[in-house]
Amino acid sequence: MVKFHEADVRKFRNVFVCRKCKTKIKSPNMKIIQGKVSCRRCGSKVFKAVRKK
Ligand SMILES: [Zn+2]
Repeated sequence: MVKFHEADVRKFRNVFVCRKCKTKIKSPNMKIIQGKVSCRRCGSKVFKAVRKK
């Protein structure tokens, strides 16, 4: 169950959008959660997951 969900996350949620400048960043969500990723443009560490269907 968990692994299935994880696969789903990998497929759709490895892309995040910076909340400040709306730049799209492709990164493993674990890194985003841990705050290890910063925006290329503005250096912000606040990201929002992209939902795409
Ligand atoms: Zn940014």
